[in-house]
Amino acid sequence: IAALALTGCGRSEPTTPGGATGGTTGFAQDSAIGVALPKKTSENWVLAEKLFNDGLGSAGFKATVQFANNGVAEQQNQISAMIAKGAKVIIVGALDGSQLGTQLQQAKDAGATIIAYDRLLLNTENVDYYVAYDNFKVGQLQGQALLEGMKAKKASGPYNIELLAGSPDDANAKVFFNGAMSVLQPKIDDGTLKVLSGQTTFEKAVTQDWKAENAQRRMDTILTGSYGTASLDGVLSPNDTLARAAITAVKAAGKPIPVITGQDSEVQSVKSIMAGEQYSTINKDTRKLVEHAIVMVKDLQAGKTPEINDDKSYNNGVKTVPAYLLEPVIVTAANVKTAYVDDPVLGPITK
Ligand code: BGC
Repeated sequence: IAALALTGCGRSEPTTPGGATGGTTGFAQDSAIGVALPKKTSENWVLAEKLFNDGLGSAGFKATVQFANNGVAEQQNQISAMIAKGAKVIIVGALDGSQLGTQLQQAKDAGATIIAYDRLLLNTENVDYYVAYDNFKVGQLQGQALLEGMKAKKASGPYNIELLAGSPDDANAKVFFNGAMSVLQPKIDDGTLKVLSGQTTFEKAVTQDWKAENAQRRMDTILTGSYGTASLDGVLSPNDTLARAAITAVKAAGKPIPVITGQDSEVQSVKSIMAGEQYSTINKDTRKLVEHAIVMVKDLQAGKTPEINDDKSYNNGVKTVPAYLLEPVIVTAANVKTAYVDDPVLGPITK
């Protein structure tokens, strides 16, 4: 067991193979597979819906792919309905990763395998695998990009920054924030970075529902309250939607656009980086993530244990979930032309 715990960076067998009932016995190739997605809060989710339908469909599975735009109860009901349909695997991109315990227990009791997709499922035994881009790494890359971008404009600090975080019900939001703060907090502590609003905690920085208008309103208030004559050098933004909201707020305040981070490679943000406004985004190719989730489903169908590459990083409060993590890539003006060469939408735009 000790040896296993130390092999986290290599390929290793999951510590909890396949879960209690599902996973290693295989099932029919035309089985029902459920995919429960959260709200359509960014382009990646909308793309995932299509990719899951296409990929699972062409593999012969009967796929049900659903969004929970009306909230947690809707997602709970959708998962219950997937169980009732006899889904062999349920892939969950949770709206609120801590509110699905009852449904996941029912799914497990019915013999389904549960894969957490992009967002971890919290405080439950009943999650077999996690497939995601490494979220902590995403935050670290954002923190580093923010520092580098500000340094390129002004060789030394102090730099004034403000912090935005994602929606508090999304398990990823805190992980992104913690990853970024692992880079930024020491610089706040040594005085290199100043947060004039004083709002440095996750709780103060959150943006309910990842909504642009919520981030914009908070930035408006901060700019009016704390940046009358002071300059704002940087904004940590966890994704592209909120980055564009911050740009709108800064422009409305008549300030020069500071260094602003992002994530998701949304079309408007990639264009904004090319135009010299948004500073960075993160490339997390949704096609690769969905493809990998489907590889896991195919392995389970064939009675094989899905491959994992991390068994130590993502603890959900009850267990460390065997994970397959993909590498996020930072994109700035420096590499925007090469980052998306094989992307069907962004490739032609960035050429
Ligand atoms: C995803 C991000 C996305 C955010 C809002 C997160 O869980 O990992 O890529 O920006 O949700 O939709």
